[in-house]
Amino acid sequence: MGGADIERLIALLARLPGLGPRSARRAALALLRQPQARMLPLAQAMEQAARSVRTCSTCGNLDTRDPCAICTDPGRDRGVVCVVETVGDLWALERAGVHRGVYQVLGGTLSALAGTGPDDLNLAPLLARLEAGGVREVILALGATVEGAATTHWLQDRLVGFDVPVSRVGQGLPMGGALDVLDDGTLAAALTARKIHS
Ligand SMILES: [Zn+2]
Repeated sequence: MGGADIERLIALLARLPGLGPRSARRAALALLRQPQARMLPLAQAMEQAARSVRTCSTCGNLDTRDPCAICTDPGRDRGVVCVVETVGDLWALERAGVHRGVYQVLGGTLSALAGTGPDDLNLAPLLARLEAGGVREVILALGATVEGAATTHWLQDRLVGFDVPVSRVGQGLPMGGALDVLDDGTLAAALTARKIHS
């Protein structure tokens, strides 16, 4: 492997969240030192995931099947839909084991700064589920950021016509915090302490 290949590897790694140029160089070096044990298995896992993982058309989760394992799990309560910003937030709630219903991943929040409007949110599958009936509660579990709060308020207004209780997590969520950085106990407390909007 020549210098250009190494530089390209480092440049690609440096684009990953949480990795700057310095961490990317360290990661590249760790991989290059053990090409058989570390690098090829990683490359193969990445290629496999890139080919097999898709977005669930029902909830927006990432899985190798569509609908995803959560949407097709007969043990999950389809009557309770938890709305989150990102798949990372969904994974955090799953890790904490605090939600036995299903999800809707919006894929972002309303943000004038980022130019994200209502049409950019993955909301249609949730509206379709509400129209189909059988949903008893919608839980809004968006981050305690300015954008998260704005999106929560907008969703509360948007969902008013469906005659389904809409609750929101609030208690215990630190201001400015995204869900996926919280510990399991904080997540559980936030979900348990949700309030019904009236
Ligand atoms: Zn799904």
